[in-house]
Amino acid sequence: MPKQIRFIKSAVVEKDYPVHSRAEVAIAGRSNAGKSSFINGLATNKIAKVSSTPGKTRLLNFFDVAATFVLVDMPGYGFAARSGDEIRDWHKMIETYLSSRESLAGLILVMDIRRSWSEDEELLRRFSETQGFPLAVVLTKADKMSRSQMLQAVAKIKKETGLSAVFATSSIKKTGQEEVEDYIYKNWIK
Ligand code: GDP
Repeated sequence: MPKQIRFIKSAVVEKDYPVHSRAEVAIAGRSNAGKSSFINGLATNKIAKVSSTPGKTRLLNFFDVAATFVLVDMPGYGFAARSGDEIRDWHKMIETYLSSRESLAGLILVMDIRRSWSEDEELLRRFSETQGFPLAVVLTKADKMSRSQMLQAVAKIKKETGLSAVFATSSIKKTGQEEVEDYIYKNWIK
């Protein structure tokens, strides 16, 4: 069920991360993957706007989800249009967060279902492996293909990555999102 989501704060460096006692679920994806739409689909209120406000697109944005867990919205990747410095800053911020945050319960990787698994996704997958936090893949825009193509795409990603938590979703048709929520609540938030 969609939840009330409330913006807590933005941060870049560790000392600015919010202090709380809940589990954190991080969410990352290539720009335009459908991350904001997915987050908005989880919420009863429209919140992902916050993350796309100028000035907040390169920060970690922390949200309280129904006083149950904290969602950490990471800036979009896919660097063709970005400078070397920006890429380095992004890496540093993401790496610091993912390697040091004790409350991190898992990472959701958001990806357009029509794309192939790339080096950027692989970087995050390897990171989850070395750091030992769970990873779930949310494939978006499932409405862009037939059901059989969708099942094929899910199977292909599972095979390529060895991950079992791979979900096909559509924010337009509002499908698949509850399955992701259920998975997170059952497996990551104790
Ligand atoms: P973000 O950059 O990852 O936050 O991506 P957005 O949520 O802003 O979405 C990027 C574009 O994809 C927008 O034009 C959305 O309307 C579109 N989009 C997002 N989710 C879906 C979906 O499930 N189905 C379809 N057809 N379009 C989507």
